[in-house]
Amino acid sequence: MPSIVVVGAHWGDEGKGKIVDMLAQSADMVVRYSGGDNAGHTVINDQGKFGLHLVPSGIFCKQAVCVIANGTVINPESLLSELDMLQSKGVDCSRLCISDKAHLTLPYHVLLDGAEETARGSAAIGTTKRGIGPTYADKAARNGLRMGDLLDLEAAAGRLKATYASKEAALKRLGLELIPFDALMAKLGAYAKRIGPLITATETLINQALDDAKTVVFEGAQGTLLDVEFGTYPYVTSSTTIAPGVYPGAGLRPRALDHILGVFKAYTTRVGTGPMPTELLDETGELIRTRAHEFGVTTGRPRRCGWFDAVAGRYSVQINGMNAGALTRLDVLDDFPSIKVCVAYEINGKPVRDFPGSLTTLNRCKPVYEELPGWRKPTPHLRRFEDLPAQAKAYVHRLEHLVGCPMKMISVGPRREETITVAALV
Ligand code: GDP
Repeated sequence: MPSIVVVGAHWGDEGKGKIVDMLAQSADMVVRYSGGDNAGHTVINDQGKFGLHLVPSGIFCKQAVCVIANGTVINPESLLSELDMLQSKGVDCSRLCISDKAHLTLPYHVLLDGAEETARGSAAIGTTKRGIGPTYADKAARNGLRMGDLLDLEAAAGRLKATYASKEAALKRLGLELIPFDALMAKLGAYAKRIGPLITATETLINQALDDAKTVVFEGAQGTLLDVEFGTYPYVTSSTTIAPGVYPGAGLRPRALDHILGVFKAYTTRVGTGPMPTELLDETGELIRTRAHEFGVTTGRPRRCGWFDAVAGRYSVQINGMNAGALTRLDVLDDFPSIKVCVAYEINGKPVRDFPGSLTTLNRCKPVYEELPGWRKPTPHLRRFEDLPAQAKAYVHRLEHLVGCPMKMISVGPRREETITVAALV
C-alpha cells in the first residue's frame, strides 16, 4: 500500500485514530494534512491510551516519519503540551517534521473564535473555540503567520505588527484583552527554540518518499460532512476534510494516491449543531451513547447518536472516490435485537435519494429505515470475518451495498488487536 489516505465518512469521530495507528505499523511516513488541534484522535496501544490533537497517530511506530503538513494550522502552545505529554510517557517524538508553510494559531485567533461563536447565540455553529476558523480566515486574507516565520522572527515581527494592532482593537471592542506585543514576540521566540529544528519543506519530504516507493499514510481529520465545501455548511469546519484535500494540504501531486479508505462507524454520530437526519432523541439514542461512551475527545461534549445514514455514506463515497472502507464500532451494536439503517430520505412522502446541499431541504428530510435483525452475541474477541454471527455479516454486506464500497477492515473494539482484516488493501 504505497500511499493511502484515511478520511472520516460522516461527521468525524469515526475511529480514524485507531485505523491510522494500525496502518502506521507498516508505514514509512504518516502525514496530517488538514485542520488543527480541533481534531481529537484516540489511540490505544501497548504504550497506553492517548488523545492526539495535532501529532499524527503514527508517532507510536518507531519506523514512521510523522509529518504535520502545510494544510494544517498549528497552535504552538497545544503542540508543545502534546509533545510534553507524549514524551512524559516515553514516546519518541524525534521523527516529527512540521511544514514551514503551516499557519500559526495565535492567542488572538483563539479569543476571536470564542467571541464570534458566543455572538452567534442560538445560531452557533459548534466550533471547538480553538481558533481554527480565524486562523484559516487570516490565511485566506493573507494576514497569517506561518511556521517558517518562526525561523526569521525579525521579519515576522515587522509583518505581525499591523495585524496585531487590528486584532487588538477588535478584541478591545469585545471587551477582551490581548497579551502585549512584546510578550507575544517573546512567546514566539520560545516556540522557535523548541519547534524550530522540526520545521522544514515537508512537501519535498513527502514527494521524495513517494518517489522512493515508501508507504505513506495520510491521516484525515474530522469527517466528509464537516468539509467546508461539501459538508453541511455553515455547520462545518473551516478546512478541507475530504480525500482530495490531501493534494493542496500536503503538496502532493495529482494521481499520487493509490488507496482512499473511508472510515465508517456502524451507526452515525455528530458533535455540535447542524442537521443530522438519523439523530435519535429517544432512549435508543441514549443507549447507543452510553454503550459507546460517545463524548468528544477535544471538547468532552456528548455526541448526538443515531442509526447508520447510508444516504450520507453514499455521498461520502462519491465525493472522496473511496475504494475501501473500514467499519468501526460494530461491537456497540452487539446487544440490539434489531438494527435500523437509513436507506433513503423522504419529504412529505416523496423520496430524496441524494444527499441535499440545501440545509433547509436536509432539515425537512425524514429518514426511511430498513430494519435488520441484530445478532445479540459479543464480537470483540472475533478476528475473522467468517466467524462473525450471520446477522452481523449480513449487516456489513448491506452497508457495503448501500454505500457502494467494500469494508476491508472491521473494528470490534478500541484496541489494535480488536480488528478483523477482511481483505488486504491492495
Ligand atoms: P477519530 O477522531 O475518528 O479518530 O475518532 P475518535 O478517536 O474521536 O473516536 C473514536 C473512539 O472510538 C475512540 O475512543 C476509540 O478508542 C474508539 N474506537 C475505535 N474503534 C472502536 C471499535 O471498533 N469499538 C469500540 N467500542 N470503540 C472503538
